[in-house]
Amino acid sequence: MKAAILGATGLVGQRFVQMLNDHPWFEISAITGSERSAGMEYGKAVSWRMETPLKSKLAQLTVRPSAPKELDADVVFSALPAEQALRIEEEFASAGYAVVSNASAHRMEADVPLMNPEANFEHLSLIDVQRRKRKWDGALVTDPNCTTAVLTLSLKPLCDGFGVKNVIMSSMQAASGAGYPGVASLDIIDNIIPFIKDEEEKVERETKKILGTAGTPAGFKVSASCHRVPVIDGHSEAIFVQTEKPATPEEVAGCMANFVAEPQKLKLPSAPERPVVVRAEQDRPQPRFDRNEGGGMSVVVGRVRRDPVFDGVKFLALGHNTVRGAAGCAILIAESMKAEGYL
Ligand code: NAP
Repeated sequence: MKAAILGATGLVGQRFVQMLNDHPWFEISAITGSERSAGMEYGKAVSWRMETPLKSKLAQLTVRPSAPKELDADVVFSALPAEQALRIEEEFASAGYAVVSNASAHRMEADVPLMNPEANFEHLSLIDVQRRKRKWDGALVTDPNCTTAVLTLSLKPLCDGFGVKNVIMSSMQAASGAGYPGVASLDIIDNIIPFIKDEEEKVERETKKILGTAGTPAGFKVSASCHRVPVIDGHSEAIFVQTEKPATPEEVAGCMANFVAEPQKLKLPSAPERPVVVRAEQDRPQPRFDRNEGGGMSVVVGRVRRDPVFDGVKFLALGHNTVRGAAGCAILIAESMKAEGYL
């Protein structure tokens, strides 16, 4: 199937280009940018920041404007900033394209699935509601904020196994989460920035939408505190959970380690064998060693232990913010859509 990438010159856009380069189902048919880069060769327009070299056939593609009439695609991946996404993504969906977006613009709309496929595969059914309501053949589906993606994947096994009553999460978020060039080096080196605009509100509301049923948010409370740290890739999160049913740290670790969901059962190409990998060592997970687990699609959990305040559990979770937290999650959503006949 033909895949277009909107905002392909940004950090998430580059991750899409890298991950779709030899994807078994999707082939890059078009890439777009802003007026700054439209008309240029991709290799000249992009500040390539991925770990693998940019393939020359991709470097030679011409960056197009982000407009529906410019493209030929079966699926459109959006890595646009939220302000631009609001209008442009709707234009694409109403022109009949299936859009899978990383931007926050449409995430909380009631008929837009907000998906982390292992956590809420069944929310795909909202596409039917959306198509009826908006009278279009296209689709608009979103993935979560990067911090929410890590949190919801680690919480899903607990929701299923024990029920969740209250969640507190304190994040240590990578610099790449702010895009490119992102945070100025003089602000982030030797430092921690204790505020990320709108991030805590996004984590608190998106987590409940994802872990609820389609159309009804989960009833538990979430409190988030978000911080930017001098790590390039990989968000770490200290998570404290009060469960509905009593659960020992050993039971929680076992339930996370054994967790598989629909994407694994369907053997979707981007589904990691283990969505949650549990490490027993006291000093893991660490961003440098663990962010690429499962090709960057697994969340790595460690230090699962008793929480004396909640009489629950606490643990550390780590996930790759531009893979599981962005491009990889969106590609897994598109694979889920194809498997369920929505593409
Ligand atoms: P970024 O590095 O700043 O890239 C932004 C991209 O959008 C560039 O390709 C840019 O093109 C394009 N763009 C900017 N203004 C545009 C316009 N007016 N019309 C069309 N294209 C325009 O940002 P990013 O980190 O990749 O993030 C992209 C989106 O994903 C954002 O909505 C962000 O919130 C979300 N997200 C990011 C992460 C992460 O970890 N970074 C995780 C989850 C979600 P030019 O280069 O041509 O100007």
